[in-house]
Amino acid sequence: MVITIDGPSGVGKSTVTRRVAAARGVDYLDTGSMYRAATVAALRAGVPLDDPVAVTDVIERSDIRYVDGVILLNGEDVSDDVRTDEVTGAVSAVSAIPAVRHRLVEFQRAWVTERGGNAVVEGRDIGTVVFPDAPAKIFLTARPEVRSARRAGDAEAANLSAETIETKMRERDRQDSTRAVSPLAAADDAIIIDTSDLSLGEVVESVLEVVAHARC
Ligand code: C5P
Repeated sequence: MVITIDGPSGVGKSTVTRRVAAARGVDYLDTGSMYRAATVAALRAGVPLDDPVAVTDVIERSDIRYVDGVILLNGEDVSDDVRTDEVTGAVSAVSAIPAVRHRLVEFQRAWVTERGGNAVVEGRDIGTVVFPDAPAKIFLTARPEVRSARRAGDAEAANLSAETIETKMRERDRQDSTRAVSPLAAADDAIIIDTSDLSLGEVVESVLEVVAHARC
């Protein structure tokens, strides 16, 4: 069964996804790391991020893979490179390019097929576009102040003030939610869980509850 976990930044998607995958004994796919790797490729190539043709050309010549929780760009482990403030600030522009999304979505579907259709996949458009027929769809939310406090604990936010973190987070969410192709959105049949006042364990329990009641 494919379990989709979508939501904006700072809701705890990655940690919850890992825990749910471990509880179910399946692999997980962090699709955000793929868009981040595409952004690293574009930045390294030095192409203008507002030039969709140039960015797409770079991405089409790049080999982006996700293997055992590690993101690889042309065979190089770029797990640290994808978490810089520069990449976080640029990723929404790259992920708004339809041809980039098309290429990465193909990879995401093939990755799940290779695992017999059993995986937990996290992102922004997984329940709406990548796996619209998934039997278990979760959309995580949290109050903005809770999300920015959680983001403050992330590596790329280490040297930023709380105000800067919140401003950047809101801007990224605005771009992700308003882009023309595959915007951040909850699927009509997603179960929405507000994680603001829940512990990690309680969120994981809630997700596993949804999964237990899913049609297979
Ligand atoms: O989840 P994470 O914060 O690492 O995602 C980084 C960015 O990748 C998001 O802000 C969004 O622009 C993009 N993304 C996307 N679709 C996904 C996953 C991530 O557009 N399925």
